[in-house]
Amino acid sequence: MSKRDYYEILGVSKTANEAEIKKAYRALAVKYHPDKNPDDPAAEERFKEAAEAYSVLSDQQKRAAYDRFGHQGVGAGAGFGGFEGGYSNFDDIFEMFGFGDMFGGRTSRRTTVQRGSDLRYDLEISLEDAATGKDETLRIPRLEQCDECDGSGAESGTQPETCVTCGGSGQTRYQQGFFSVMRTCPNCAGRGRIIKSPCKKCRGQGRVERERTIEIKIPAGVETGSRLRVSGEGEAGVGGGPSGDLYVVIHVREHERFERQGADLYTAVPVTFAQAALGADISVDTLDSSETVKVPAGTQTGTVFRVKGHGMPNLGGRGKGDLFVAVTLMTPKTLTKEQRKLLEQLAEIEDHEFSDRSFMDKVRNIFG
Ligand SMILES: [Zn+2]
Ligand SMILES: [Zn+2]
Repeated sequence: MSKRDYYEILGVSKTANEAEIKKAYRALAVKYHPDKNPDDPAAEERFKEAAEAYSVLSDQQKRAAYDRFGHQGVGAGAGFGGFEGGYSNFDDIFEMFGFGDMFGGRTSRRTTVQRGSDLRYDLEISLEDAATGKDETLRIPRLEQCDECDGSGAESGTQPETCVTCGGSGQTRYQQGFFSVMRTCPNCAGRGRIIKSPCKKCRGQGRVERERTIEIKIPAGVETGSRLRVSGEGEAGVGGGPSGDLYVVIHVREHERFERQGADLYTAVPVTFAQAALGADISVDTLDSSETVKVPAGTQTGTVFRVKGHGMPNLGGRGKGDLFVAVTLMTPKTLTKEQRKLLEQLAEIEDHEFSDRSFMDKVRNIFG
């Protein structure tokens, strides 16, 4: 089933600010609230949809990932550990608006086990590196499971105890009108466990921030916007939950000589009037070496030659793009005595009538 666009669901523009998003969500949540629409599955669906959209768009990091990668970027697509991480957020929203455990059961999940957050790392590389691929070492600060307490948060030799107030669910329930309301347990702050003597290293959090060195292989042919997913190298999960993933987003620096379009490269090379008129073998720099381009006699400025197979490699595929070379006629700014003399001689004998009709037609088109 294809998912609707989150902005569309909330009816806000892509540039909407936090307040606008919150306002739009609140309006929808009130409108489609199951309490107001009993036995209306469509309304309930809209209500859930809006809550999911809000859980993403209200979180700067998730919103950025969604803007860039769509539903895939926020764990709603294949290859992710489901929407577990999202649901804990989901429940926070219900709680924030005082909706309680409308959909039963789910709220109890929020407590202990949570998937770690995905991390994003922006990496700038040169065009040459994009062409050949590269091994790169990244230094990533991230939350990792505390090795002192194995993530439990309790000092070694002690165990966290189940909270007696909420029985470990992290939530307390009370009746309000027709439906029951879940609140975060005040005794354990929603953790479901009480740590009497917290681990000193992580102060009871179970996770510590560490800078981690990660080796990645950038494949040949990447371009700006390519993202590499490094599975399990995001932040550690909570309470034994799985780690998130690391996304490395590639930015290829502009090159001073080459313009890239897909797998093809474009460059320009200067030729003199004599070379263009008489024909010449011109040496053209490619990305990694140089190639000879045969410029035939009578070549016009702007003529493009193709050097086959000297573009960029195709990402993950076979073959390479081509290099396109535009020759540009250079008029000399200074002349030696001898050059001047020869050009003057040339001017005297030059045919002043352009015999090429099509050229004159072009001129007329420009001025006509
Ligand atoms: Zn610890
Ligand atoms: Zn509790």
